Amino acid sequence: MSRIVVIGGGLGGLAAAARLARLRHEVTVVERAETVGGKAGTFSRDGFRFDTGPSLITLPATIRDLFRKTGKPAESVLDLRPLDSLMRYRFADGTWVDVPNTGVNDVATAFQDAFGGRAGAQWRSFYERAERTWDAVRTPFVESPLEGTAPLLRLGLARPRDAALIGPWRTLRGLGQRSFDDPRLRVWLDRYATYSGSDPRKSPAVLSVVPYVEHAFGGWEITGGVRLLVDAVHQRAADRGAQVRTGSEVVAVTTTAGRVDGVRLAGGETLPADIVVSDIDAAALYSQLLDSPTSDVMRRLRHATPSSSGFVLLLGVRGRTDGLRRHTVLFGDDVDAEFDAVFSSSARPPSRPTIYVNATTDGAPPDCESWFVLVNAPRHGTGPGAIDWRAPGLAERYADEVLATLAARGLDVRNRLALLEIRTPADLESATGSPGGAIYGTSSNGWRPATLRPANRSPVAGLFLVGGSAHPGGGIPLVLMSAALVAEMIGRA
Ligand SMILES: Cc1cc2nc3c(=O)[nH]c(=O)nc-3n(C[C@H](O)[C@H](O)[C@H](O)COP(=O)(O)OP(=O)(O)OC[C@H]3O[C@@H](n4cnc5c(N)ncnc54)[C@H](O)[C@@H]3O)c2cc1C
Repeated sequence: MSRIVVIGGGLGGLAAAARLARLRHEVTVVERAETVGGKAGTFSRDGFRFDTGPSLITLPATIRDLFRKTGKPAESVLDLRPLDSLMRYRFADGTWVDVPNTGVNDVATAFQDAFGGRAGAQWRSFYERAERTWDAVRTPFVESPLEGTAPLLRLGLARPRDAALIGPWRTLRGLGQRSFDDPRLRVWLDRYATYSGSDPRKSPAVLSVVPYVEHAFGGWEITGGVRLLVDAVHQRAADRGAQVRTGSEVVAVTTTAGRVDGVRLAGGETLPADIVVSDIDAAALYSQLLDSPTSDVMRRLRHATPSSSGFVLLLGVRGRTDGLRRHTVLFGDDVDAEFDAVFSSSARPPSRPTIYVNATTDGAPPDCESWFVLVNAPRHGTGPGAIDWRAPGLAERYADEVLATLAARGLDVRNRLALLEIRTPADLESATGSPGGAIYGTSSNGWRPATLRPANRSPVAGLFLVGGSAHPGGGIPLVLMSAALVAEMIGRA
């Protein structure tokens, strides 16, 4: 049995704790905030309840695997349900499309009806290509602890056709231009780069696996909200014997002769450990908590672009909105200007941006709706791709702009607001310790993002990384996979 300290009680840390405790290790999770969950947070006021982070669940197999491998199945603790309709999109020309959650053929029909031309057939060939890409990357890259460029080179030599499919020289934008005649479908595909906080003009075409996975395995929801997933994983970790300490910040990972021997807390207390698993942002771990030389990792992190952040409005809305779906995306009129504003110019957040709305009635008082509204936004800070979100009046002015943009696109709720709560990237940074409020650690911008992302095994003996800023990446499914990978690497007591 090893003594294991997990730094951070986000979904990655809690999942790792549950798995490691199941393997009979003595596990302590140390969380800086007063509650666990990190980016998968929650907020309640005046009878309204909101998830403040994830709202769309994909690859539910990763959730099922976690619960099955640590005890009773997910179905015994969560109501995980497929969405009735995956997403409703509104394009800049006013076209609306309801994308079904029932697989490739129904989506082909929806796209054909909405866009005409060869849209349905082009979607099918795009989907088939993305399926081959998923088959090529799933085992060697996503479900394995990728360490360095060697697997890429090995794949290139052994399976040149697969290597051509995932060729890092093609961007997601380039793939969209080759795959679709209709500019609206290209805009639709571009959006999937933002699921990893990235710019489609710079991120590799291999991100086509993101829409593939969404359509092949469906979009899901958890009755009562994603927060219940956090609670269930927390409970599972506790049931397996893991201790969870909240309100305790780790300020250092301590080492002896190049191997971890514990962590030091803000108050000076030390917790001895044979193994430390970090669920905090990898850049923060390497730059702030470690004094051992990790220059190679820091050099790679410096080459990577941090992921974008998000500007969030939590709206308590009186009455019911006709025709509103659970998930709606309203595209902006100039997506390139929007990506420029998020990733390179540091002047202001994007004007008339693409807006995502997650609307529910089950977290709202009778005859009301809870809306979670998200806009991709530059990080908090200075330099390219960052702005000072604490500048006086900025957040309030931008909230007004987002509400006016929603109104211009047919969803005017300004006279129906019972509650308005603003969450900026600076707030996300304060709440979760993620530098600048970056949602996914590093973005996938560049030709080799997977190899720049910090590995699950650090160069310091006994130190492992889970969570959205480490391999294989951000978002609930990948974060849960990182926990599975690390538990497997550490193994049985
Ligand atoms: C607005 C938003 C929308 C999203 N939408 C989706 C979605 O629809 N679908 C999806 O799959 N994913 C989505 N995500 C991403 C998803 O929420 C994250 O990838 C996932 O929750 C991250 O989990 P994590 O384990 O990496 O850690 P985090 O949630 O970042 O948790 C890290 C924890 O470490 C703690 N911590 C930090 N520093 C210290 C320290 N020094 N000592 C102790 N503790 C520390 C923090 O307080 C935090 O609790 C969204 C995220 C956001 C913010």
